[in-house]
Amino acid sequence: MSDSLGSGPVPVPPPRVLPTTLRQRLAELRGPTVAPHPLDARALAALAANPGCRRRALLDGAGVDKAALATALGSPAPFGQSQFAFMRGNAFEAKVKADGGTELMALLTDLIDSSAPSPLPGEVLVPDLSAAGPEGRTARTALALREATAAGTWALLDHPLFALEVAGSPAYLEPDAVVVRPDGRWTVVEIKSFPMIDGSADAAKVGAAARQSAVYVLALERVAVLTEGAEVDHRVLLVCPKDFSNLPTASVVDVRKQRAVTRRQLARLTRIEDIAAALPEGTTFDVERRSGEELTTAVESVDAAYAPECLAACELAFHCRGRARADGAVEALGRSVRGELGGLTTVEDVLAAARGEAGDPSDPTVAALRRAAALRAEALAGAAAVRDGGA
Ligand code: SF4
Repeated sequence: MSDSLGSGPVPVPPPRVLPTTLRQRLAELRGPTVAPHPLDARALAALAANPGCRRRALLDGAGVDKAALATALGSPAPFGQSQFAFMRGNAFEAKVKADGGTELMALLTDLIDSSAPSPLPGEVLVPDLSAAGPEGRTARTALALREATAAGTWALLDHPLFALEVAGSPAYLEPDAVVVRPDGRWTVVEIKSFPMIDGSADAAKVGAAARQSAVYVLALERVAVLTEGAEVDHRVLLVCPKDFSNLPTASVVDVRKQRAVTRRQLARLTRIEDIAAALPEGTTFDVERRSGEELTTAVESVDAAYAPECLAACELAFHCRGRARADGAVEALGRSVRGELGGLTTVEDVLAAARGEAGDPSDPTVAALRRAAALRAEALAGAAAVRDGGA
């Protein structure tokens, strides 16, 4: 398969096994007794959205629990899912996949493949994907995909596991489901608990689901290039509750654009060994063994690239925002404002340039700031004159 957005699947080597020394270093960074926090597709999509942030790349690559770290820093994460929402989501997902995925297959054939009849109950293979450890589950998933594709049958892979190398470290990704069709096409299925009302859902939530699904498609393509007759569909089936019921409905989301962007951004990430090598000796993010002050020093030893978008995507957002504001960094105002301000990197520099106390007047940014300051002073003077005249 090829397309104009991202040039289709490319042969990608399997994720490398990390050298022992790097594995030990990453274990030291998160704490020797702390299990690595898994990197999921949501986190990867957020990482890809901010590839300039070495701090996030290192913490995610080392498997540090950023929510626990943010709490230890005194700036707890601003988001999370309630237990009730979690249980409701699980119940909905179980309903969608019930009876060997009969209803799911009907939604899929209706929206993606209306020419093909939906498989009858019992015609869909649901392979057992259980195995020991992530490597075992990844291998089991790849085998199930190969077998179903070779057999030319319908198959529903419930919570398969794929590996994707990110910044030199393997990340394991688990979509809600992947459907194999008899013609060898593989389709990612994403099941969400937000409603689809009159056939459409919240655009921001659909966008986030599309970015997440694009990561799954990238990981699935790794397996597809090694499987004869397989083709990964760039259209993802998004299943949501219909209106305000718990009946499933679905729409098809084309993720070619998100896939191309994510692939490009992930390739730009600095390798974690390079970031780790630049850290001061003895640095660790172990919340069990370090005080808040020591953790702050450790976190600040890695460069960040804060932007207001972090507030919706990263557990350390409150901490990084506080630091950016304290430093007067213009990044705290947003990427577009940062881009407009050229070489002026702090709010203090910007105000000084606007007041005419600093900056090169021939610089278009400085000239624009002075013009804006003059207009503001004029408007304020006019408002004061009206107020005084009316008094
Ligand atoms: S909140 Fe901080 S660590 Fe997270 S992505 Fe933004 S700048 Fe990086």
